[in-house]
Formats: sequence, structure tokens, C-alpha cells
Amino acid sequence: MFVDMNSFFASCEQQMNYYLRGRPVGVCVYTGENGCVIAPSIEAKQRGVKTGMRLREAMQLCPELVPLESRPERYREFHIRIMEVLRRYAEEVIPKSIDEAVMDLRTYKLVYPDLIVLARQIKKDIREQVGEWLRCSIGIAPNAFLAKLGTELQKPDGLVMITPENIDQVLAGLSLTDLPGIGERMAQRLRKGGIHTPLELRHASPYHLRRVCQSIVGLHWHYRLNFAEVDIMDHPYKTMQAMRQISAAQRQRIQSLHDLLVALCMTLERRMVSQKVCCREVAVQFTYTYTRQWHQVIRLPKPVQEGTWLLQAIRQRMEHFVRTHHCEPLINDQLTAMGVSVSDFVPEELVPLSLFEEPLRRQNLLRAVYDIKDRFGPDKLIKAVELSDVQPMKDAIGFGSVKDLHARKT
Ligand SMILES: [Mg+2]
Repeated sequence: MFVDMNSFFASCEQQMNYYLRGRPVGVCVYTGENGCVIAPSIEAKQRGVKTGMRLREAMQLCPELVPLESRPERYREFHIRIMEVLRRYAEEVIPKSIDEAVMDLRTYKLVYPDLIVLARQIKKDIREQVGEWLRCSIGIAPNAFLAKLGTELQKPDGLVMITPENIDQVLAGLSLTDLPGIGERMAQRLRKGGIHTPLELRHASPYHLRRVCQSIVGLHWHYRLNFAEVDIMDHPYKTMQAMRQISAAQRQRIQSLHDLLVALCMTLERRMVSQKVCCREVAVQFTYTYTRQWHQVIRLPKPVQEGTWLLQAIRQRMEHFVRTHHCEPLINDQLTAMGVSVSDFVPEELVPLSLFEEPLRRQNLLRAVYDIKDRFGPDKLIKAVELSDVQPMKDAIGFGSVKDLHARKT
């Protein structure tokens, strides 16, 4: 079951402000002369206002439009409350973005014999418990892709079920680019391969599709339209860990231990970037010659992907600990092992939860940095914090795990 909130940002604003209800509203990042409507309300869409339209143009088209500056914090709160509603009905609720989520109900056949009834109940719960003005489109299908397609077919307040019995009829009314994930370029490629409609896509042989797309992507399209699941993947990671034993000689060079902590955080950053996840929790473990351990779990105020932020959180915790316990520095010449692990992952695309703020730009920057590293070598571009005279990780052959080696290839 796929739940997609309709005109989400604008509806949240209308929910909070009674006098905006029923009026065309355009949520903008800023409402100045060059502002852009990033989220028109249902009423604004009905008057032709489109996402991404310049505010000036939108006002000409619809003079009664109410431009509003976006308040991401508010939308995030609504998102959390909506997810709470969904999680009451299923164990696996995977947010796909700030206004949509997929519920994995594959093992709930006996619990919910009629999913239409469940969908209506969820719509009602959202209205009654989150906000009466909030509408959603719900799609039900044997896999996540078709369920998502279901939400596209009826807006606002839609409810569409796609089954083996009606799928051909549903697809018959659509063009290739109506399928989420098929853009103009992909459509062109398919047309070249003799596939002109979603129906032809569904009935093409998987081998032919593979040839046409020249990759596994073609097979995925065959699976999607023939009810197999390729879009919900069980995440291979629950936690990622970077750990390192410290030799007696290395212990004597305190600076190299500080560098090692930096390197561990950067290793985790690289893995999180390659897995496209951010973490909400970081744990740190120091082991000492006198067999004592210092172990701390740090809850992060927001999802983090960058090593420097992990580092900052760990350093703050260390300083706090030393201050309150009046003890010697935690990084000292008795350290025998150092480990950092991250957990409680959020898919990267969910960090648009901090939409329009610094994090999104930082994430793009990080992605660009790793693209450069992948293309020209990992040491061609490094962060200032990674600069050091000694290279704390260079001698660590086989450091990390096999997963790591695998990740590097991607
Ligand atoms: Mg939506």
C-alpha cells in the first residue's frame, strides 16, 4: 500500500490556518519577486498553477493566489504524525519522501482481508488524528511500484487498487512517461526497441527488455509490471562499524590516535554515501590496556552522513565526559583499540526532511566529492580534517569488511 499526501506543504498550511482553506495557496521558498511556487494547493493546481512556476507568472494566472513562505519544520512534524498513524497498521512502513510512504503488507493477508477497508480507515485516521484538511491518494497493488502508480491515477483523495485482473485495463489508458521512473529519454530508448506503450512494456519478453535497455534496468521493468517486488529491498545494514587495534608503538603518538578517530569517521562517511543512508545514532568505544572500556551511544539531533559531524558529536561527548569526571583525556597512551559505529539509518532521500536548508546542499556537495574520488582516486580530494603528517589508515590492509570492498566499486 502506497500513501501519497496530496499537495502536502500547502495542505499543512491550510490545516494550520483555517482562513486559507479552500483558497489557492502557493508555498514558496521565498516570496520575493523571483520566488518560485514549490507546492501549489489543490485549489491552485485547479487554476493551472504548477510546481516550479515563477510566482510572478502564477499570480498572473491566478490573482487570488496566496503566496506563503515554506516552513519545513512544520511539514516535518506532520510527516512524523502521519507515519505514526501508518505504523499502527504495519510493522514495515518505509517513508519514500516527506509526503509519501509505502507499507509492506505482504504478510498481512489474514489480518486485513479487505485492503480497501484498511485504506479508508487510514484516510479517516489521518483526517481525524493529524488534520481534517489533509488528503491522500492511496494505491494498493501486489508490489510497491504498482501501488505508487495507483496513487498517480487518482488525485486528490484517490484510492486505486491494481490487480492481475485489472492491470491491462489500467495500463491501456497510460503512456510510457506516465509510469513513475520513465522519463523522456528512457521512453525514446524503449520506442526504438519497438515498445510504445506500458501495455507493450508489460508483455515484452524480459530478454528483449534487457537488450533494449542494455542493462538489468530492463528486467526490472518486466518484473514491476508483472507483480514482482524490486523496489522494496531489505536494507543490508542495521549498523556499520569501523574498528582498529592500536599497536604499542602507535599508542605513543597521541596525534596519530586523533587522526585515527578522524579516519574511522571518514570510513563510515564513505560507506553511508555509497549506501545512500544517513544515521541517527553514533556509538564510540575505546579500549584501554587496563582492560577498561569507554563506551558511549550518542543520539544525533538530525540524520548525519558526514564524517566531520560524527567527529564533532564524538568530540563534544569526550569533552563533556572529561569535564564532568575530572579525568585525563580519553585519547591517551593506554588506548589499545578504537571503534566507531553508526546505526538507525534513514534513506538519504528522506533528508529532504530538512529541505531547503543547508543539509541538502551539503549532501550534494558530499556526493560530488565522492564522484570525484571515484573517478580520480580516493586521495585526490580530501577534507582539511583528514590532513595529517602520518597516514593513520594506510597500513591497515583489509581494514573494514568485505562489504567495504564491494562498496568501493560502486
Ligand atoms: Mg504528494
